[in-house]
Amino acid sequence: MALLNIENLSVEYKSKRGITGKTETIHAVNNISLEINKGEILAVAGESGCGKSTLAKAIMLLENACGGKIIFEGKNVLKMNKAELKCFRQKVQMIFQNPYASLNPKMKIFDTLAEPLKINTDLTNEQIKKTVIDTACKAGLDEECLKLYPHEFSGGQRQRIAIARALILNPEFILADEPVSALDVSIQAQIINLLKQLKDDYNLTFLFISHDLSVIKYLSDRVAVMYLGEIVEIGTTDEIFFTPEHPYTKALLSSVPQITKTGDEKIILEGDLPSPADLPQGCKFHTRCPYCMPVCREKMPDETRITDTHYVKCFLAKSMI
Ligand code: SF4
Repeated sequence: MALLNIENLSVEYKSKRGITGKTETIHAVNNISLEINKGEILAVAGESGCGKSTLAKAIMLLENACGGKIIFEGKNVLKMNKAELKCFRQKVQMIFQNPYASLNPKMKIFDTLAEPLKINTDLTNEQIKKTVIDTACKAGLDEECLKLYPHEFSGGQRQRIAIARALILNPEFILADEPVSALDVSIQAQIINLLKQLKDDYNLTFLFISHDLSVIKYLSDRVAVMYLGEIVEIGTTDEIFFTPEHPYTKALLSSVPQITKTGDEKIILEGDLPSPADLPQGCKFHTRCPYCMPVCREKMPDETRITDTHYVKCFLAKSMI
């Protein structure tokens, strides 16, 4: 069952170009439709600048959507009234990439964790204290940590605090935006395992954003591959890693040597991601695709259903159904 349904979501920015001062439109997220099922981890993969974080921020209402719907538990978040939004904000939480920047440096950890409970619940001081200690403990922090400030912790500990803060209101859905990419490799594994454990303990659903394919392979149930603000391929983790269809997905996998076996088709991408202010006509990937055909420059490929769970936008894709 879908917990979150995104329908034709678009996010655009206006920006002034260089010294000419000409206004241009940046198409950060283009007409994305996505379903996130209760209890799953859906990963969003793609290069920096492809719109992954903008998508997460739009779901959290930290960016304004210029079109489409975000349906959470059957209600369009973009049309919710104040009371409904308050409830939505309790149920949907976010973990950011940089735990230091996302914590208030002037607040002790206890106060950081207690604040959402004071604002959103009727708990007594005693109940708040117990909830804060229990949640910190679940995130791998001891009671002594609660008396300290964020600068007194290592990066990994700070991310545990950020995770505890995301959990404190007992949410249903967590958006994790590159939650381990700012951490040392040895700490990354601890935090990934912690997220996996907490998913089971709290019965959580995750939208997990990362450019690290090995982390995605280990953690996620399904993967959506994003390119220039569009989902170009979506499938189960096995489908995306073992039977990818889109040339861009194959190129991403080719960039991780341990995932592809010797002899597998490798696509090495040339050039940079085009500017989202100047989107190519037709298939957005045609400027870098080694299989580009004349039709790719003129028409946008429709979504092809490969299996019941695997969909791809490419003229070369052939349905197996
Ligand atoms: Fe490449 Fe054409 Fe497929 Fe786009 S539609 S990925 S350009 S083959």
